[in-house]
Amino acid sequence: MADNSPIRLVIHGGAGAIKRNKLTAEREHAYRRALAQSLIAGHAVLASGGSSIDAVIAAIVVMEDSPLFNAGKGAVFSHAGRNELEASIMEGSTRMAGAVAGVTTIRNPIRAAHAVMKKSAHVMLIGRGAETFAAEQDLEIVDPSYFYTQHRWNQLQKAIAKECILRDHDADPGTLLPDKDEKRGTVGAVALDCYGNLAAGTSTGGLTNKRYGRVGDSSIIGAGTYADNRSIAVSATGTGEMFIRAAAAFNTAAQVRLKHIPIAEAADITLAEIAAIGGDGGLIVLATNGEYAMRFNTSGMYHGTINNDGIAWTGVFPGA
Ligand code: ASP
Repeated sequence: MADNSPIRLVIHGGAGAIKRNKLTAEREHAYRRALAQSLIAGHAVLASGGSSIDAVIAAIVVMEDSPLFNAGKGAVFSHAGRNELEASIMEGSTRMAGAVAGVTTIRNPIRAAHAVMKKSAHVMLIGRGAETFAAEQDLEIVDPSYFYTQHRWNQLQKAIAKECILRDHDADPGTLLPDKDEKRGTVGAVALDCYGNLAAGTSTGGLTNKRYGRVGDSSIIGAGTYADNRSIAVSATGTGEMFIRAAAAFNTAAQVRLKHIPIAEAADITLAEIAAIGGDGGLIVLATNGEYAMRFNTSGMYHGTINNDGIAWTGVFPGA
């Protein structure tokens, strides 16, 4: 490994209506500490000559294992009272990709997404099939109760109550709109390794009170995750339906590759397109020269970055 080749990892822990006056110093500290642990885990991989894919996995596993984030342990509940998880991963050099959705027993869905990419002929496996495949690959399988947290259960009860009210005013009771004011907590990472290769990954529990079987953008290649060495690596967080409709991650990468515009501008264009159809959220992007951007059009997004110097930088609000 050439000492001076740039390495970088950028992560997010979800975007949403995070209010400065509601976030206690203690809670902010806990989030920042967890983000820093994730950055340090990913950096250890990159600094020892590991690949960007392995760094993305290392960073995301830390956040999946933390109850603070809406991914793995700590994931939100669906309307059916289950934690239905999804994740995706993509490698920029080969544009190989893997994803899982609707899984309830895989401790680290990002590892399962990676196994789908490496060990199957497919890009996406869902539900039982994904769980069986993960077990065959010797990934850790847990009882669904592993994902239970009281806090998320309480959130579901609140959402169910609110939804009844929402439904009363909704012309189409079948349309269950996510509450835009609830903080979301999907996690994601983009990495550049010393060989100049990009990778991106995203993992989530989705939306509180989502319908049984609902799949968001986080497991969809081109929506929540995309990586292409010819442009950038991208991971998204936000109102999944709109991110899917905007092909958010691919759209951002395509702006850079075809229009040669600065990466932050490309992210802003995508976020504006999402806003135009009623969505919001954030994007982290990283280029092969180490340039990166962490953009969001919500009041906050848990985010952070680390490079060769190994100093973890974390933020929650714009400019902080
Ligand atoms: N994008 C995720 C979803 O729609 C939610 C989030 O980013 O927090 O499932």
